[in-house]
Amino acid sequence: MGRISDLVEELQGPANDLVLAAGRAGLLPRITSTIRSNSEQRRLYNRYLAGQAGYPVAPPGYSAHEYGLAFDMVVSPMEALADVGYTWQQWGGGWNGADAVHFELPGASEYAREQGRLLEVQSDSAGATAAGFITTATDFYLGSNVAGLLKLIPGLSKNEALTVLSSPYESFQQWLISSIKLPSFR
Ligand SMILES: [Zn+2]
Repeated sequence: MGRISDLVEELQGPANDLVLAAGRAGLLPRITSTIRSNSEQRRLYNRYLAGQAGYPVAPPGYSAHEYGLAFDMVVSPMEALADVGYTWQQWGGGWNGADAVHFELPGASEYAREQGRLLEVQSDSAGATAAGFITTATDFYLGSNVAGLLKLIPGLSKNEALTVLSSPYESFQQWLISSIKLPSFR
């Protein structure tokens, strides 16, 4: 379920265009899903785990649908999805034959996975520690405090610390999140 108008604004125009194009080609397009709440994603994911979904379902927090960045559409015959997906790709959108009903903004699934990991870091049992750790490490980044970072992450060489601290903040954060997945922090 869901309407195109529930999606992020930049996706609405192209989504409408795709429905029109598929309709003109006689493929009877039907949007089956746009934005999903976290609990809706959880319900779908549980069905998937139980083997009751005929398509891949991302865990809650990890789906591009939860961020309004994707929609699902069926056509008739379903084999025509390959052509529709190709068209979507030609327009610059994200599409993958493994989940042929799924159309998204480029990079949407990667973005959703990153958000999902962040949410997990913040909400699981190690969350409080991890969040505190990120805050501390962010201070090091802002102050470019190599000594501090070396103390925080034993085993990091001075060169590595310098590289990490000189990378853009986003890369730094990603690196940090992967670092706190080390066994010593779990
Ligand atoms: Zn989808």
